[in-house]
Amino acid sequence: MSKVKYNRIVLKLSGEALAGEKGFGINPPVIKKIAEEIKQVCDLGVQVCIVCGGGNMWRGVTGEQMGMERAQADYIGMLGTIMNGLSLQDALESVGVPTRVQTAIEMRQIAEPYIRRKAIRHLEKGRVVIFSAGTGSPYFSTDTTAALRAAEMDADAILMAKNGVDGVYSADPNKVKDAVKFDHLTHMDILDKHLQVMDSTASSLSMDNHIPLVVFNLNTPGNIVRVVKGEEIGTTIEG
Ligand code: UDP
Repeated sequence: MSKVKYNRIVLKLSGEALAGEKGFGINPPVIKKIAEEIKQVCDLGVQVCIVCGGGNMWRGVTGEQMGMERAQADYIGMLGTIMNGLSLQDALESVGVPTRVQTAIEMRQIAEPYIRRKAIRHLEKGRVVIFSAGTGSPYFSTDTTAALRAAEMDADAILMAKNGVDGVYSADPNKVKDAVKFDHLTHMDILDKHLQVMDSTASSLSMDNHIPLVVFNLNTPGNIVRVVKGEEIGTTIEG
């Protein structure tokens, strides 16, 4: 398949991406638009895994700041990612894309448990596999989940879809006027320069397993397809 650069991808969608303008909760029309974009990628024959975040519902760290036990708060966060996963499944199937949701915490009545070899088989059969409940362990993030699943699935790249930001900058472009956008970086650059891309656990895992990461703006229609085809529209992190 020469028309695409990446044949098997892990698309990381933050919870925020599913929330629309309000920034919290689930916004079905917004999710449907994302599903239509993902369908275009599937139509190219690309195998697609999705890791969804849960920041639109709850973050463990917020609970901790409010006096909750961190692990307990993180489990609530993981449950949020399952709600997002089911919403994405609904949207994808409504546009004709077959899917399976796999959860890292068993919830057999509504989704399959995460089984690596089964997930690979689904991909080979043309199904989008949505990974929910993060890693299944507290103190981790869904960015780390994306790196972990990308390694396990032997994915060609992680596509990190951002809301309104088109790549990695030297500083927050919304706050610093002369912030510079990077086209290419290494995972070590991210760690060294403390760039706000993913947390350090996720960066280390991506670096150790040589998984390329592409950071791009989800809000421009057609961008997921552009990245899959190898157009350099965001920031590519390799090495
Ligand atoms: N979470 C966790 N373990 C994981 C993944 C996620 O405990 O392996 C929890 C954690 O509390 C996190 C929340 O789920 O704050 C939502 O995930 P994340 O913050 O990564 O979502 P995103 O920022 O991508 O929307």
